[in-house]
Amino acid sequence: MHELGIMTGVLETVNASAHEAGAERVLSISLSIGVMTEAIEDALRFAFEALSEGSLSEGAALEITMVQPKSRCLECGATYGHDRFSLLCPECGSFATELVAGRGMWIDSIEVDIPDDAPPAGPSSAGPPPDGGKENETRKKPGA
Ligand SMILES: [Zn+2]
Repeated sequence: MHELGIMTGVLETVNASAHEAGAERVLSISLSIGVMTEAIEDALRFAFEALSEGSLSEGAALEITMVQPKSRCLECGATYGHDRFSLLCPECGSFATELVAGRGMWIDSIEVDIPDDAPPAGPSSAGPPPDGGKENETRKKPGA
């Protein structure tokens, strides 16, 4: 399943970042996914639920933005949005177009929970060093 592959990559990245940041868990993940990847949002959510179990990302809120495809006409220069199937330039009808948006997938942001109750390495208020308590040894000569 296409979406499992995508989500496996996303979770690897997210969990690694969260781990590096010292996070206890991931609170939310925002993704943008181009419609031209043909990934289906529901399937992505399903893949996320299945794959995040037991990881730092388990229970995180998943926000998915589907990016609509956009192309530029190489003939007349028009830039236009379209669906997955009609790529023709609406201005001049040319087939010579290039996709400028709507392909690919990226992570917009990750929100993590980092515990802040870790003991800070504060200055230890050590007093003056003990100087060994001088022994005032007065030797008494016996029978002086
Ligand atoms: Zn055109």
